[in-house]
Amino acid sequence: MSSNIIQDLPKIELHRHIEGSFHPPTLFQIAQKNRLDFPQEFEAFKEQLQFPKDSKPDFALFLSKFYNKWYNDLDDVYTVVYNSFLNIDQNENLFYSEIRFNPFHFCINKGFDPVDTLKTFLMAARSAIREKQSHTKLLMTINRGFYPEERYMEVFKQFVDKVDLTGIIGIDLAGDEVNFPPEKFQHFFQLIQSHGLPATIHAGEVTSADQIWTAIDKLHAKRIGHGVKVTDDPNLIAYAKEKSIAFEMCPISNYQTGAVPDTANHPIRDLLREGLCVTLNSDDPTVQNATLVDDYNACHHQMGLSIDELKALNLNSIQASFLPPKEKIDLEKNFLQAWGKVTSAH
Ligand SMILES: [Zn+2]
Repeated sequence: MSSNIIQDLPKIELHRHIEGSFHPPTLFQIAQKNRLDFPQEFEAFKEQLQFPKDSKPDFALFLSKFYNKWYNDLDDVYTVVYNSFLNIDQNENLFYSEIRFNPFHFCINKGFDPVDTLKTFLMAARSAIREKQSHTKLLMTINRGFYPEERYMEVFKQFVDKVDLTGIIGIDLAGDEVNFPPEKFQHFFQLIQSHGLPATIHAGEVTSADQIWTAIDKLHAKRIGHGVKVTDDPNLIAYAKEKSIAFEMCPISNYQTGAVPDTANHPIRDLLREGLCVTLNSDDPTVQNATLVDDYNACHHQMGLSIDELKALNLNSIQASFLPPKEKIDLEKNFLQAWGKVTSAH
């Protein structure tokens, strides 16, 4: 079996943040143009951008990499978003992906109008997706720490009124789990669900299983971002199975943030074997200095998941995607065909 099979396998990914997947050469260009305080030499610049490969887990260091002061105007936003979507697949063979973005990341520093910012973002993302002919949908993220719920509700209503939201198929809650528990956003998630948008909630990454219960019961999450702490509560595992809740797990990210002590013993392996709907994702490739292929390698070589088990993770992702049912059926059919081609060629 060729060592490249892991790279060649078609992959379905549900959890990747564009703000953690920016194209480093484009950021370098923007930093130079806008005279930002960064190293003048590309390699040193890139090092500052990324979590160091040999670093111990460090949540604060990880978060410090999400710098949001790149943009002098909406043209800068367009350039970064367009180039990042164009270059998003780092030889990973993404077959279908749901990429999440936080519109407020782009406008909060200089106070750009959120509606104009979202329009610019969508124009850039759609244009790159069309050009690449990639099968990609978008999830909108709101960050727990940026604004209170009322402000998000007000801006979301403006988005619905003024922006064509085609291509956005779900909403995500991310950010500081410790100080902003999910119940603070219950009304916001009621509002988005009344517009037919499903929810995925970051929970139980650095906090306890309690937040996963809240995300499911009070925010009606269909998917949980990370959720590694589900292992602390057998009742929750049973409940999540019964309700077909999916878990978007990201082994390398979980190691770097300290959510798990090492990748070899990441809970994704045992949870998959227990029949929980777990999925495999990268989270933030640029920040992590690691791609989705590295996560697959960790699963296969460190955790001992077989190629068939990697397929099962992908089928879970198709099941848990926010695509309409008919599109899921087509996706599964095409995916299995592509998977068969790669595995029989190796
Ligand atoms: Zn995430």
